[in-house]
Amino acid sequence: MITFGKGWLRNCLLAAISATAWLGSAAAQSMDADLHALPKRLLLLQSYGQNFQPFANWTTEVRSALVRQSPWPLSIQEHYVETAISGGAAPEARFVDYLSALYQDAPPDLVVTFGAPASRFVQKYRSLLFADVPTLLAAVNVRRVDPSMLSAKDAVVGTLVENVPLFENILRLLPQTETIAVIIGNSPPEQYWVKEVQRQLRPLLGDKVALRFYNERRFGEMLEDLEHLPPRSAIYFQQMMVDGAGVVYGDKDPLKSIVAVANAPIFTFDQSLFHGGVVGGPMTSPVDGARSIAEVVVRMLGGENPGDIHVPAIAFAQPKYDWRELRRWGISESRLPPGSEVVFRQPTPWQAYPWQMALIGAAVLLQGGLIAGLLRERRRRHSAETTARQRMTELAHTNRFSTAGEFSASIAHEMNQPLGAILSNAEAAQIILKSPAPDLPALKEIVDEILHNDLRASEVIRRIRSLLKKAPFEASDFDLKDLANETLEFLSALARGRKVDLSGEIASDPLPVRGDQVQMQQVFLNLVMNAIEAMKDLPSERRSLIVRTSREGGYAEFSVSDSGPGISDDKLKQVFEPFFTTKDDGMGMGLSIARTIVTAHDGQIVAKNREGGGATFCVSLPLRA
Ligand code: ADP
Repeated sequence: MITFGKGWLRNCLLAAISATAWLGSAAAQSMDADLHALPKRLLLLQSYGQNFQPFANWTTEVRSALVRQSPWPLSIQEHYVETAISGGAAPEARFVDYLSALYQDAPPDLVVTFGAPASRFVQKYRSLLFADVPTLLAAVNVRRVDPSMLSAKDAVVGTLVENVPLFENILRLLPQTETIAVIIGNSPPEQYWVKEVQRQLRPLLGDKVALRFYNERRFGEMLEDLEHLPPRSAIYFQQMMVDGAGVVYGDKDPLKSIVAVANAPIFTFDQSLFHGGVVGGPMTSPVDGARSIAEVVVRMLGGENPGDIHVPAIAFAQPKYDWRELRRWGISESRLPPGSEVVFRQPTPWQAYPWQMALIGAAVLLQGGLIAGLLRERRRRHSAETTARQRMTELAHTNRFSTAGEFSASIAHEMNQPLGAILSNAEAAQIILKSPAPDLPALKEIVDEILHNDLRASEVIRRIRSLLKKAPFEASDFDLKDLANETLEFLSALARGRKVDLSGEIASDPLPVRGDQVQMQQVFLNLVMNAIEAMKDLPSERRSLIVRTSREGGYAEFSVSDSGPGISDDKLKQVFEPFFTTKDDGMGMGLSIARTIVTAHDGQIVAKNREGGGATFCVSLPLRA
């Protein structure tokens, strides 16, 4: 009989615990096995050489796609089928020996070839090297894959590089093209492409476009020709592994040298070569291609039968164009096929430096506003100045009228003299004419006298008219010395009438100044009238008035000195203020107007007291250069 006692339960528990522990350790062991799994071994065989484009770029892109896409760690080896450069059998055999020495005992899990020379090499030496290793022929032009050479272990991810759409692109952008320089080297695979391009393009180009090949020329000669291509030329760059002299250029970025000298736009077939200097168009994309290749690599490493893997060949990507090259060669974007992408667009200054541009714009606006404000202010000031000058002219005119009023007695006196002389001369002439034998010489003398007195009277009238004429401010060049002499003459009658001893000390050399003569004469008159006024209470023998002119540095000076009471020191400045007067019938405008006129002439007027009594008013005006 079976009994289920305490011991049984304990045993069951122990068994359960140990089973759980075992399962746990088994799971842990399996995880450990994954983490420490041996990496899958991948051998990449690239055509031509390590730096040969576009394959160098394709292998780089495939490596980085595998990092993202492979679920296993990978050990990747890379070799270069450089024997394709010469095509010689002997180096190829040595290369085979080298690879077999490396991989005989530990063959890779997968071989991936890049380009036609590498794919041909593997297919040719498969039995010697990797008889049982699956092989992926990648980045090889489908035209270059011989289906009869494919084994059950081969898969292909080819490229579909057709020359016709590449050249159609050139003619679409540049319909006037007459010459296309085709850059293909002279290694055996390249010689194939020279023939292939000629064959494929004949129907498209006919006689319209001439093709130039350089495979039999030296690289330097080719560069020289590309520098001097005829107008309406284009350049198509395919590859330049070896030049006509057998020199290898493929790993030295030959396209860069071509871009540096070419005088025509350059086109190519693969985006690996599209990095400045190339116009663009339909091109294979190594990024897209690498994604597809990496996908197949993972499937093959995962054990999928290579013969069952069929992926479409990698066609041209959407056309891409370099904005800088389009501008350089004057190609309008309207010529590009629909769906094209334009890259390397240079941003406008607004896009590149938005806030700096905004700042500059704001500064310019601010400055513009400031300038506009200043200009408005200047205009306002100008018009205010014009108005002020007009007012001053009007005031000065009124002032001259009142001065003339004070003159009236002396003017009448001055006019009386010549008129009286004319009358007495005329009467004398009448008497002579009544005599039977008139004294003709005496008559002539009398007529001369009449004429002379008439001229004197006209001169008085002219002076009065010019003083009273209402004219706007009118600047002219004049001699201050002449003006002083004329004014002295003008005032001599008045001085005589007021019993003032008027004398002049006028400089002999000229004093050229610029300004309004009538206004400046008014300054003279105001000062002289004030001086005569100031001396009216003195006995006539002490009334002395001196007008002086002189040259002081760059200034012409004139002064009016009297022997009157002078001006108390605290009033020396005040006398120029408008409406300042000490006279019962005074207006207080004479000196204020004089100062306004002198200042408008860039000059100065000051009042001083003379040592022996009396006042001096001194005016200085800038001498004309
Ligand atoms: P007004 O002659 O109408 O008073 P002005 O402006 O010509 O106005 O003169 C202002 C004042 O300056 C005069 O009232 C007078 O007191 C003083 N003044 C002007 N010239 C002289 C002078 N030569 N001697 C003394 N005082 C003078």
